[in-house]
Amino acid sequence: MHALALLNQPSRDAPPHAAGAPPFRLVDPDGLHLSVLDLGVTRGDGIFETISAGHGRPQALDAHLRRFAASASALELPIPDSQAWRDAILAVISELGDVPEAFVKTVYTRGIEGDGRPTGWVHGSHSPDLGRVRVDGVRVVTLDRGYRHDVATTSPWLLAGAKTLSYAVNRAVIREARRRDADDVIFVSSDGYILEGPTSTVLLRRGNVLMTPGTGLAILEGTTQGSIFGFAEANGYETGFELSTVEDLHTADAIWLVSSVRHAAPVTALDGVPVAIDRVMTVRINEFLQQRQE
Ligand code: PLP
Repeated sequence: MHALALLNQPSRDAPPHAAGAPPFRLVDPDGLHLSVLDLGVTRGDGIFETISAGHGRPQALDAHLRRFAASASALELPIPDSQAWRDAILAVISELGDVPEAFVKTVYTRGIEGDGRPTGWVHGSHSPDLGRVRVDGVRVVTLDRGYRHDVATTSPWLLAGAKTLSYAVNRAVIREARRRDADDVIFVSSDGYILEGPTSTVLLRRGNVLMTPGTGLAILEGTTQGSIFGFAEANGYETGFELSTVEDLHTADAIWLVSSVRHAAPVTALDGVPVAIDRVMTVRINEFLQQRQE
């Protein structure tokens, strides 16, 4: 089951595709809708968000729309029309029906070169069954990302903190992980600080404190991490952002990779060294994430 909405005018700062047409329309998701000349395809010149939905309601929608706008700004794309995107997201989720878990992907590209009209769509589908990975977890390897932790300040043109369509590297590292007999990756800066997964935020627990790598590290601000911090604080945990090293990971009480669709995957091994799973907290976090309605 899947559904698709095409935006007629993804930004009010750019002309619509059809004058006077509604802001979006639901179309056949199996149809052909994208030009081979679209810069999103030919150059990876665009941005996206992946938003989970539970029983017909999007999760952390405001946080996703904020990050979407921040990514657009980093790429100097016209400001997304948040109302049009929100309405299209809700329409697609409604098409998917009242299922426990679904997700939508919003994609916004610079459009066809020289055309001046950006392209936007929202595609949604039911989520695969992710029950096992949330319990059994993932074996992780650390991989050098090749730039310093302060690259957002020194070289903002690298777009390191934006969710761009250029994810070939994020896929390549998963293949590298497989070659190393692992499932997932934690990127490390060239000066030794842990950053993020290729599609997730790193969380670690030390006693009563839940931590994630510091902000300003040229990593994505995780919407899932934001929700989990709210939940943890309401349940007596302290939370914080901290520059951490691989050594800090090895001495943590528990580690998770968290993201919108997979939710919290406990890390079971780090560079081949077993890591203890905090089963109780993993279950609590995942139950919270599945049921949250914001
Ligand atoms: N970091 C990267 C590079 C990601 O691609 C993602 C999600 O896909 C995340 C972090 C986690 O973000 P979120 O929790 O908003 O899904």
